[in-house]
Amino acid sequence: MIKTFPGGVQPACLKNETIDKLIKNAPVPREVIIPLLQHTGAPCEPMVSAGSRVRTGQVIARSDKFISSPIHASISGTVKKIDRYPHPVIGSFNAVFIEGDGADTKETSIKKTDNVNLLSEDEIRDIVRECGIVGLGGAAFPTHVKLALPEGKAIDSFILNGSECEPYLTCDHRLMLENPAGIIEGMAMMLRLTGASRAYIAIESNKIGAAFALEKILRDKRYNTLNAKIVILKTKYPQGAERSLIKSILNREVPPRGLPLDVGCVVSNVGTAFAVYEAVFNGKPLYERVVTVTGSCVAEPSNLRVRIGTPVKDLVDALGGLKKDVYKIIFGGPMMGLAQLSLDTPVIKGTSGILFLSKEDVAEYAETNCIRCGRCVDVCPLNMVPADIMRFVKKEQYERAIEYNVEDCIECGCCSYECPSKIPLFQWIKLGKTEVLNLRSAK
Ligand code: SF4
Ligand code: SF4
Repeated sequence: MIKTFPGGVQPACLKNETIDKLIKNAPVPREVIIPLLQHTGAPCEPMVSAGSRVRTGQVIARSDKFISSPIHASISGTVKKIDRYPHPVIGSFNAVFIEGDGADTKETSIKKTDNVNLLSEDEIRDIVRECGIVGLGGAAFPTHVKLALPEGKAIDSFILNGSECEPYLTCDHRLMLENPAGIIEGMAMMLRLTGASRAYIAIESNKIGAAFALEKILRDKRYNTLNAKIVILKTKYPQGAERSLIKSILNREVPPRGLPLDVGCVVSNVGTAFAVYEAVFNGKPLYERVVTVTGSCVAEPSNLRVRIGTPVKDLVDALGGLKKDVYKIIFGGPMMGLAQLSLDTPVIKGTSGILFLSKEDVAEYAETNCIRCGRCVDVCPLNMVPADIMRFVKKEQYERAIEYNVEDCIECGCCSYECPSKIPLFQWIKLGKTEVLNLRSAK
């Protein structure tokens, strides 16, 4: 039976340009600019300075805070400087500039293993941390933290998220088709670390090929004890959001301001599982990732394995340039992604896609008055009342907004997408979240 959650929307799919294309390696860039914050948590401090020689995969920045993740050089060469630079999520941030030597010499301090069973849980978690693995679905939460359950917490279910519900994006889909064994090995390690007794692999109904590829691996007797099964979900946005997945698969609701852990569950993306596999089996830090580069302006839309810190313009060149004028560049998908101002912006760990959209692709409408139709409520996957929250935020009544659970908004944008009056509800709600956060930290 195909499962789903209440609410959500069905935007056009727009994945066809890249869905059948094998993942290719992007050229190794001549220069990378690697921001010192690429994850949820404390920023890293540089461990190199101008003139330092570095190897691909060498740690160049870290923090001693638990919720943080080390950052690695993505090419070999020489550090030119550390300076502020455009950042795709937070405007600008300090970054390490590395000029490549063309050799791509690898750091080999993290050992490969042939038998993961010889490693303890703590050793695996240390490798995951040392390799800088973060959630690759977008939030970039440090994976070693997610895999270290707090004292007194236990979970019964692990959800591997292969739903990839954003239009345009196909990087997870391709990874599931091309590397299913690595994904299952990574998931097996995550199950061991979290103690979950069963796993659900969540795949939308438009990716049946990926479901078959993973199912074939699961049939191997090595994985009999995993207690894992594939769950086919309705193709609907935002099916891949943690709360939607948990509702669709387990029929559990994460409480207001709660976490999946509160309902006995951990959710992780398929790309993250593969990165865990590569770290533990191959000793490979997270210095590159698969990115969908697409949109009507790109000459050759593709899925590329891209070094972290690669400026967008290098990817445009690698794909034969732009075939028409770009009106909007978006990092991520069109629903939750962030618009960028510059072709110099670098790829970071959380960059799942880069869209180059023309004016015709980007609908622009004049906002009109709310007609109280209730459609924003119908589509909100959290059953919130976006129109009311917007009114509270406009009037700076943040306590009322808190009562209406503004902080729980997952920023999916369904309310704005569906609103017939084209009211930017999501933008108001996001502003409300920021103001509430400021209020809480001022107390
Ligand atoms: S969808 Fe738009 S017009 Fe309808 S109630 Fe919500 S804000 Fe008002
Ligand atoms: S209020 Fe938040 S969670 Fe609900 S539809 Fe709008 S953006 Fe999505």
